[in-house]
Formats: sequence, structure tokens, C-alpha cells
Amino acid sequence: MRKLYSIFLLAFFLMLMPALPSKAATTIVLDPGHGGDFDEDLGAVYPPYSERDMTLFTAQLLKAELEMYDDVRVLMTRTDNSSVTLQQRVDYAHSVGADFLYSIHYNATGTHDIHGAEVYISVQKDMYERSFAMAWNTLQELTALGMHPKGVRVRMGRSGASDYYGILRIASGYQMPAAIVEHCYLDEPTDRTFLAQGQSPVTACAAFAHADAVAIAKSLHLKSTALGTDYSTYPNMQIVVPVPLVTIDITPQMLGY
Ligand SMILES: [Zn+2]
Repeated sequence: MRKLYSIFLLAFFLMLMPALPSKAATTIVLDPGHGGDFDEDLGAVYPPYSERDMTLFTAQLLKAELEMYDDVRVLMTRTDNSSVTLQQRVDYAHSVGADFLYSIHYNATGTHDIHGAEVYISVQKDMYERSFAMAWNTLQELTALGMHPKGVRVRMGRSGASDYYGILRIASGYQMPAAIVEHCYLDEPTDRTFLAQGQSPVTACAAFAHADAVAIAKSLHLKSTALGTDYSTYPNMQIVVPVPLVTIDITPQMLGY
């Protein structure tokens, strides 16, 4: 009788086993900036380059490369030319349990004389610390491509206590690490020369997508059996912020600096 009981017990546990969670996959949410057909949805537009389209191209290429890594789930806040609010983008990332929200952008200025790559992360201490390695690695990879490194940056909102950028502000509310990656300037001659190496705006995005993929893989310690790449022990930069908010240097810039 005791033996029968043991067999039943074993059978019961075997039935339960498939329900036990396997090793949790890392979830990355890619956010192709902008999208839609209204003026405010377009982002920067400097023919033949349109930010709205390039963010989507980049995200699609990036997703394909990241999916070659083991135990990773890659999702996107938009997969077509839909108009999606900032709140919807972050709510979606939160709803799927994103380990990181990676927002993809291309820059421009009215003066057309600024070039390079920059990555924005939250001003909040804990979010800054948890997002820094991703931002740093991304900047390193973009610099290796030839982009001028403008830095890992923060931008304070008017209240002086939270982020200027909605994606970062809302993500902070969810305690979700996030970064806004401005890959280059679509309107500046140096960066346009780099982009023109691609035969089309889509191929121009390919180098950026690969750089992003390597940075994300390093930051989240991913490993790819398919690619034979292992970043599981990659020594990410550790940052400790000694104050609740990362303050901004407002020293007036020296001419020519
Ligand atoms: Zn943008």
C-alpha cells in the first residue's frame, strides 16, 4: 500500500512538472520612435531619411539579430506605421514584463551642424544605475562605427525632479530600466556621409542595428549558441549615484569646446 502511495505521489509530481516555469527568458522591448502620418508622428525628416521609418527598420533588423541569442524574447511597441502614444509604449513594455525598454531614435537640429550619437537615461538614481551599462555599451558600439560620442546624458523636466522625456519618466514610474538611443543626425553632412554608405535608408540602418544588438547582448549577459557568442560574463560598467537625482552640469559652455 505504501509503495502504491509512493507511485501515486511520484505520478502527481510528474504531472506538475510541465507547469513549473523553465529558466525565465530575458524580455527586451524595442521601441521604434514615432510612427503614424500626422506631422508630430514623423520625427526628423531629411530626405531620403525619415526618422519614423528608420526607427522601424532598425528595430526590425535588431529584433532579428537579438532573436539569435538563447533564452531571449524580443517584442516591439509598434511593428508598422501605427501612431502609438508614449504612455501606450511604456504600458506595453510593463505589461509584458520587459527587463529593458530600448527606444530607438535618429536626431536632427534646426541648425544642421551637430553630429554624433547620444543615449539618454533617467535622472532617477536607481533607474540611472540600472540603465547606465546599456547606455554606455550602446555609445561604445556606436563610437566604434565612427559616430562622435556625445555621451550618456540626462535631461531634467521642468519640475526639476523628474525626466523631461516621457518614455523615461513613465518607465521610471514602473521601475523599468530604459534608454533613448539617438543614433546620429539625419540632417548633418558628416553623419549623412556615413548613412549614405548604405545603398538605401534600410541598409543605412543595418550597421546601427548590429551595434545595438551587441550592446544589448553585452548589457543583458546574453549568449548565442547560433552565433557562437557568449557575453554571460561581460564586465558591465557599474555606476553608483550618491544622490537621489543625477544633476545636470549647467556650467556655460566655452566657445570652441
Ligand atoms: Zn525621435
